[in-house]
Amino acid sequence: MLTEVPSEVQQAVSAFLQTTMPSVALKDFSFVSGGCINSAGKLKTTAGDFFLKWNLAGKYPRMFENERSGLQHLRQPAVIDIPEVLTAGQAGSFQFILMEFIAKAPIAKRYWEMLGERLAQLHRVTAARFGLDHDNYIGSLPQSNAQHDAWIDFFIHERLGPQLQLAYNTHRIDPSWLHAFEGLYPKLRSLLSDEKPALLHGDLWSGNLMVNEKGEPCLVDPAVYFGHREMEWAMTKLFGGFHEAFYASYHQAFPLQPGYDDREDIYTLYPLLVHLNLFGASYKLSLDSILRKYS
Ligand code: ADP
Repeated sequence: MLTEVPSEVQQAVSAFLQTTMPSVALKDFSFVSGGCINSAGKLKTTAGDFFLKWNLAGKYPRMFENERSGLQHLRQPAVIDIPEVLTAGQAGSFQFILMEFIAKAPIAKRYWEMLGERLAQLHRVTAARFGLDHDNYIGSLPQSNAQHDAWIDFFIHERLGPQLQLAYNTHRIDPSWLHAFEGLYPKLRSLLSDEKPALLHGDLWSGNLMVNEKGEPCLVDPAVYFGHREMEWAMTKLFGGFHEAFYASYHQAFPLQPGYDDREDIYTLYPLLVHLNLFGASYKLSLDSILRKYS
C-alpha cells in the first residue's frame, strides 16, 4: 500500500489499470506541488508513470469529470499537447482523475513560438454559440457555461455577473460595486469586438503551462468553454505575462482585431473577480482602478 494515497483511490486506480494493463502493480507515489486545490502527484507503476489527483467528492461535485471533458475537448483537434485522461470518477468518499504523466525535458528553442502558433490553431476551433454544453469550474469556483448567441451577453451573464454576485454575497464588496458594474455593462457594446466563439483553455496562466518530454508546450488544468479569444490573452497577461515571442507568433498566425490593448483590462475583470472570491480583498484595488478607468 502507498501510504500517501487514500486506500479507496488506490483500489479504484488499481482495478482500472488491471482491466487495461493486466498484472500491473502500483510501485510508488510522490506528491507534486503547484496545484491550488487537490492532492496530486506522480504514480509509478510497473506499466509506467501516471499523474493522479484526488479530493473529497462532496466538496466539488463532478470536478474531475469536468476536467476530463475539458482536456478531451482540447486534445480533440490535435494541435497542442494535452495529457490524455485514462479515467476519472468516484472512489468511496473521494473523487480522482488519472492521466498521462508529463515528464519535463529542457525547454525547446522555439517553445514560445510553438505555444503562440498552436494556441492560435486551437482558437480557430469554433462552435455555433458561446459557452459549453455543461458547466465546470474556474479554480475551485463553479463556472457557468450557459450558452448565448452574443459574446457580450455571455460575458456579462455567465462571467462577470456570477462572480460579482458571489463577491457581494460573501461581503467582499459593497453595493456601490454592483452599481459600478451596472454602469459599465451598457458601455461594453461599443467597447468589445464580436468574433466567432473560439475553443479556449479558460485558465491559461503560467501554473497551467508545462514543458513536455520534447521540451514543447503542454496545457493542463483547463476551464474550457467557447469564448472570445481575447479572454485567453488577458488571462495570460494577468501576472506578468508570457514571453513576448508567444504574443508575436500568435498574432502572426491569427491576428487579433485592432484595439485589443483598450479592451484588455475589461477582460481582466473576470480573473480578478475570481481571485477576489478565492483569495480575498487584495484584488480590490486592481478591480477598482479598472472600474474607474471605464466610468
Ligand atoms: P490543481 O487542480 O490542484 O490546481 P493541477 O492540475 O494544476 O492541480 O496540478 C498541479 C501541478 O501538477 C501543476 O502545476 C503541474 O506542475 C503538475 N501537473 C499537472 N498535470 C500534470 C501531468 N499530467 N503530469 C505531470 N505533472 C502535472
